[in-house]
Amino acid sequence: MAGPHPGMPGAFPGAPGGLAGPPQKKLDPDSIPSITQVIEDDQGKQGGTVYKTNVRGQVPPLVTTDFTVQDQGNASPRFIRCTTYSLPCTADLAKQCQVPLASIIKPFASLQKNETPLYVVNHGETGPIRCNRCKAYMCPYMQFIDGGRRYQCGFCNCVNEVPVFYFQHLDHMGQRVDFYERPELSLGSYEFVATLDYCKNNKPPNPPAYIFMIDVSYNNIKSGLVKLICDELKTLLENLPSEEGMESSAIKVGFVTYNKVLHFYNVKSALAQPQMMVVSDTAEMFVPLLDGFLNNVTCQLSHDPVPLLSSLLDQIPDMFADTNESETVFVPVIQAGVEAFKAAECSGKLFIFHSSMPTAEAPGKLKNRDDKKLVNTEKEKTLFQPQKGVYEQLSKDCVAQGCCVDLFLFPSQYMDIATMADVPSHTGGSVYKYNNFQVETDGEHFLRDLRKDVRKSIGFDAIMRVRTSTGFRATEFFGAIHMNNTTDVEMAAVDCDKAITVEFKHDDALSEETGALMQCALLYTTINGQRRLRIHNLSLNCSLQLSELFKSCETDSLINFFSKSACRAILNQPLKNVREILVNQTAHMLACYRKNCASPSAASQLILPDAMKVFPVYVNSLMKTAPLVGSTELSTDDRAHQRLAIMGMGVEDTQLLLYPRLTPLHNMDVSSEALPAPVRCSEERLTDSGMFLLENGHSMFLWLGQASPPDLIQSIFNLPSLAHLQGNMCALPELDNPLSIKVRSIINGLIEKRPNSMKLQIVRQKDKPEMLFRQFLVEDKGLHGGASYMDFLCYVHREIRQLLT
Ligand SMILES: [Zn+2]
Repeated sequence: MAGPHPGMPGAFPGAPGGLAGPPQKKLDPDSIPSITQVIEDDQGKQGGTVYKTNVRGQVPPLVTTDFTVQDQGNASPRFIRCTTYSLPCTADLAKQCQVPLASIIKPFASLQKNETPLYVVNHGETGPIRCNRCKAYMCPYMQFIDGGRRYQCGFCNCVNEVPVFYFQHLDHMGQRVDFYERPELSLGSYEFVATLDYCKNNKPPNPPAYIFMIDVSYNNIKSGLVKLICDELKTLLENLPSEEGMESSAIKVGFVTYNKVLHFYNVKSALAQPQMMVVSDTAEMFVPLLDGFLNNVTCQLSHDPVPLLSSLLDQIPDMFADTNESETVFVPVIQAGVEAFKAAECSGKLFIFHSSMPTAEAPGKLKNRDDKKLVNTEKEKTLFQPQKGVYEQLSKDCVAQGCCVDLFLFPSQYMDIATMADVPSHTGGSVYKYNNFQVETDGEHFLRDLRKDVRKSIGFDAIMRVRTSTGFRATEFFGAIHMNNTTDVEMAAVDCDKAITVEFKHDDALSEETGALMQCALLYTTINGQRRLRIHNLSLNCSLQLSELFKSCETDSLINFFSKSACRAILNQPLKNVREILVNQTAHMLACYRKNCASPSAASQLILPDAMKVFPVYVNSLMKTAPLVGSTELSTDDRAHQRLAIMGMGVEDTQLLLYPRLTPLHNMDVSSEALPAPVRCSEERLTDSGMFLLENGHSMFLWLGQASPPDLIQSIFNLPSLAHLQGNMCALPELDNPLSIKVRSIINGLIEKRPNSMKLQIVRQKDKPEMLFRQFLVEDKGLHGGASYMDFLCYVHREIRQLLT
């Protein structure tokens, strides 16, 4: 096993060259902590159980475990997870252990089918009840006193009068007799109907709108992409999300096509034909038609005699069939969307389908500034920094209007994603990228993403505030967000997959007795146009003992925090420094545990806190991700794209990204319902006659050993041998045998479950594309630099020993 070379890109800093030599004593790879084992153990212990949230500071089952949540006064871990559920009482203790104190909040997280959706509380014109001083919302942490006439706020201790309409007697335990009838008294999560005070200009909002903006330049017409999008939209529009209990969607839709100029379409039902209006002056963007641009889909699709919308979507690919235009604009496209929402007084989402760097003469025109020579220099950070100026202003304008931007990119070369994705990454949007797109091999993958995206549960024009009990407060926020001040998290939209990571710092000492409380309040507009407040409450323990903190740590949350803080740090610091900080902090946290919490043992022994024992493998994997590895072999756009994606991820997404699932499929029981158990992400686990599925939420591979038995190949591919397999296959044939059915059902299940659809890539052992697959074997030495798990752990151990002497 070769060790990392000092100074090699991605090698951990200052790794002693000595490690590169043969290790004095070969460690058994099975003896070092295993993530798959940790996942399996927790699933065995807590899988299938009901997790009740009635205990303060309770550590939930792992994010990978399959469990059901019953809200009994604290928010479900699907909404909030923490790096530790027992905060240190003092700032000194926090500093001593260096364990970041953070929550990862996913306000719109999807619930399981058997979990209760959030109750909506309506207090009519009075609106939600709030503490007079700190403005916290009524929640289970308000203590009713004085026979129920007053309540003490759990956050700031202020004593408030109970409004007359809200008065209720207390029982002999001091609990309101209507405790179980009021979600805001007994549950961790619920919603309030917001009053006009919570609406822009004191007016109820209009339902949001979706605008589809299609780049119809030469490449997109020629590749068939425009036709693919238009065909799909016809069915997709019939399935726009609607609020529960509503028959049809309230979302209005509009269409724009563009290259160097923009084309707006009027599909007002009074017209016989859709009308096109061209705007060629892109310097001062305006929307040429207000009436007829945004329309209700249901009316449009059922319009007699010819549904105008379908007719428009049929016509678009033909209208531009002979185009020679290859130049595009980009900023004016988003500006047009913002203007349209402004005119319609609504929020909404832009779906932009774009394929090239905007080089046409217009605001936001970009030049190729890719420069691989900057990799591993002080200036590498500039590759991740967006171009300022018009893009920065555009983000602000979008957020102010509640305009979320989703980008579907189809690049064939560098397009400066750091800049182009800047607006999506500040507006709660997503960026999808399909390099060298071909309809045959990537079409289905793209359409699956588009369908998922359009149907996602989502809130618009959102603003989030995290309140805490006295002694600590939220100081840093990471996510696809915008912040105008230090407390209000603004999001043009927030969907079920977006998470905001919040870091906390002490102001004062916390009390073991009262613990620590947090309340996340999200004000937003529903897809139906109702203004609401979504409240999530969580109570944590506080302790003077560091052992309690380490016992209550959650590695998956810790690594989410570190991923986001590292991805933000590389905007301003050389990668080498960022990696150094990661390693040092890892060693420091573990040394602190060893010194203060572990029972005495020989210094040569590596002792890790149980809840953090697999933390090193994640940190090592994080340093090998595209943004952090510093390799000239990786595309600048791919690195920028992944950096931005990480910023919006929830705990399950970073967990999976940093430790892909490698699952053997050749020896599974096809009659069993259960998924086969994953194995460690290392080449050593592969077998020449095996078939393995690997996925990390973004990429998916079916790997076939060179000695795969012919009957296995026959069952899966209907081919006599592996040699007959074609290189570009991206879906398995539908064969009627148990193995084929089972394998396809596993693959489809995963594609369905993950936020992004994944393209299945089939690789044969020892074939060239196998390299792509190998970079995901995160326990091994990195393909683009970076140490193996074993070497990293040895290095961390050495650092810990140094810290302890
Ligand atoms: Zn208060």
